[in-house]
Amino acid sequence: MRVTLLGTGTSTGVPVIGCRCAVCTSSDPRNRRLRPGVRLELPAGTAIVDTPTDLRQQALAHDLQRVDAVLYTHGHADHVLGLDELRVFNFRQGAAIPCYGPPSALAAIRRTFAYAFEEGQEGGGKPRVELLPLDDAPFALLGAEVLPVPVRHGDLEVFGYRLGPFAYVTDVSFIPESSFARLAGVEVLVLGALRFRPHATHFSIPEAIVAAQRIGARRTLFTHLAHDVDHSASGELPAGVELAHDGLVLDFA
Ligand SMILES: [Zn+2]
Ligand SMILES: [Zn+2]
Ligand SMILES: [Zn+2]
Repeated sequence: MRVTLLGTGTSTGVPVIGCRCAVCTSSDPRNRRLRPGVRLELPAGTAIVDTPTDLRQQALAHDLQRVDAVLYTHGHADHVLGLDELRVFNFRQGAAIPCYGPPSALAAIRRTFAYAFEEGQEGGGKPRVELLPLDDAPFALLGAEVLPVPVRHGDLEVFGYRLGPFAYVTDVSFIPESSFARLAGVEVLVLGALRFRPHATHFSIPEAIVAAQRIGARRTLFTHLAHDVDHSASGELPAGVELAHDGLVLDFA
């Protein structure tokens, strides 16, 4: 399994439009963060986590050739607005794309992309997706086993996903005990952490460090980072914890 972090920025992306702060004007490419997304190269195909706003740019940058499935975390704009880009994969693959996620996420997608689910306007103008609601049971996907990891993002339920030694949990402000249990023994964890200051619906970096140390992965990478966070701050984090950046690749035997 190969995991590519396609985007590690918060909902605005970094740089923020019009911002002149030190991070937004930084020459360090690791301070350029697209909206949050992941490619999962699995034994029997390629899945992506979410269809972020920047999906087209991410697909071109990383030569995304196929999308055999999408795992949605939740229905917020930064995680779904690239859904229309799936049309290219519909054309190439000649099929609708199965899209899994918690029922609330799929309901949000159905509202946001109402045109895609209405009759009429055929001929390539609409993405073709098959919405497949998940409960929290493990399921088989493209030769791998996927374990949903329910967490809270403010009041909203969000699904993280664990695939064996790897877990991706973003847009999180609270992890229930049952989900700490689902993350036990994970080797590499990608965890949402917005910025150093507190936020109502995202872990701050200090809160994410506490969760990461409890989970105890060999390597924890923080994602969904705002422009408050300079990549050079990675060196100030505890051992085994670092800031993710766009394009980071993780390989698993
Ligand atoms: Zn988000
Ligand atoms: Zn800025
Ligand atoms: Zn969100």
